[in-house]
Amino acid sequence: MTSTAPALDAVSRSTRSPSSSTSMYAYDARDYDIARLVWQVCDQCCRGSINKISISPEWQRRGVGRRLISRALRDGPGYTWSTSGQSPEAKRFFPALTAETGTAFPEYGGGCVHFDDDRRRPIGSPIPAPAPRFERHV
Ligand SMILES: [Zn+2]
Repeated sequence: MTSTAPALDAVSRSTRSPSSSTSMYAYDARDYDIARLVWQVCDQCCRGSINKISISPEWQRRGVGRRLISRALRDGPGYTWSTSGQSPEAKRFFPALTAETGTAFPEYGGGCVHFDDDRRRPIGSPIPAPAPRFERHV
């Protein structure tokens, strides 16, 4: 891993209820969509889950995933984290991240009942769609 990754900006949408689900899209300086991270946190149970990570092939191994997950961890500092099912790539990535951050990311490490509620919320439910939030230099 080198530190050659350029600045990243991201747009995210999240909910709070007491769990939140956030989708963050990262763009490079030319506004190309290069990565997506979906995570959930529950403030009541102090749990977090990385549910989806995808990075454009040309941007892999350049620190983008690490930076996005560092951003996710700020939503649940000290929380117990886990992931959904991990691809072979992810099975190499997350242990390296654990060595670096001290945060474990066990596959199917268990969420909480509020995560399930969040996933089952029907489309068109009365909860208003959250406004997108722009973050510079993720
Ligand atoms: Zn919970």
